[in-house]
Amino acid sequence: MKRSTFIKTIGLLSLIPTSMQLDQLKNLTNTFANTELMPVLFIGHGDPMNALLDNPFTRQLSITGANLIKKYKPNVILVVSAHWLTQGTYVCTSPKPETIHDFGGFPDELFAVQYPAPGSPEYAAKTAGLVHEIKKTNEWGLDHGAWTILKHLVPAADIPVFQVSIDYHRPMQYHFDLAKQLQSLRRKGVLIIGSGNIVHNLRLSLGNLRNNSGKPFEWAIEFDEWAKSKLDDRDFKALVNYEKRGTAGKLSVPTVDHYVPMLYSVGMAGANEELHQFYEEITFGGISMRCFQVG
Ligand code: ZN
Repeated sequence: MKRSTFIKTIGLLSLIPTSMQLDQLKNLTNTFANTELMPVLFIGHGDPMNALLDNPFTRQLSITGANLIKKYKPNVILVVSAHWLTQGTYVCTSPKPETIHDFGGFPDELFAVQYPAPGSPEYAAKTAGLVHEIKKTNEWGLDHGAWTILKHLVPAADIPVFQVSIDYHRPMQYHFDLAKQLQSLRRKGVLIIGSGNIVHNLRLSLGNLRNNSGKPFEWAIEFDEWAKSKLDDRDFKALVNYEKRGTAGKLSVPTVDHYVPMLYSVGMAGANEELHQFYEEITFGGISMRCFQVG
């Protein structure tokens, strides 16, 4: 134990009732101990029905999740989801986050899904402590950007999860820079997941979504391939400035909600750190399911 940690612990000991269990004391001192560097994921979540489906995408999530948990044993998971948009940036401190069914027009079966993972008020508070503009709230839970993928990544729901919101009125560079300020969480056992879609034009894909069909649109292929090459080249600056991509960019990112989570994932990458793209598919014509792992 480092001397400073020892002194802090002795200081705390005098405040702890003698009845406190030793393991509680151990947790107190170990909570924010350094860990090996956790990887970062970006998951293209797409159709909420994926929570219930067995398809190539969900099978890949199961494999990725099982491998990551076995290898890294994360203490906690932080999700930045396309479906929590706020004015200002918030972190949810709820100890028991509610499973939020934030959609309409889906079968009852999907509304019945629960993801009962505990929250992590401690790590949420630590996250808020890193960046003064992140405010704490307990008025959220796990939206479908989080639970529909966690159902496959961590089916046991036994790792605490908390979310950080997206300040919707900020420019792309703001999100990329904010991610950099949260990078140190990766050394504290935090597995960070951005959940959105690099190409996401729901309006133009809706007809195909209803019919469960859809040949990819040309503009969707063009933008998705462009993003793929920029991720391979680690040209994150180009991804931040995607608006320069003209018509394909405008059609692929008609609103920025599903694009921004990807900027958090690349913003967490260290210099020259490996970035591995592990899934690609364009569903319903205009929704890219591209996924990648950093580290
Ligand atoms: Zn979504």
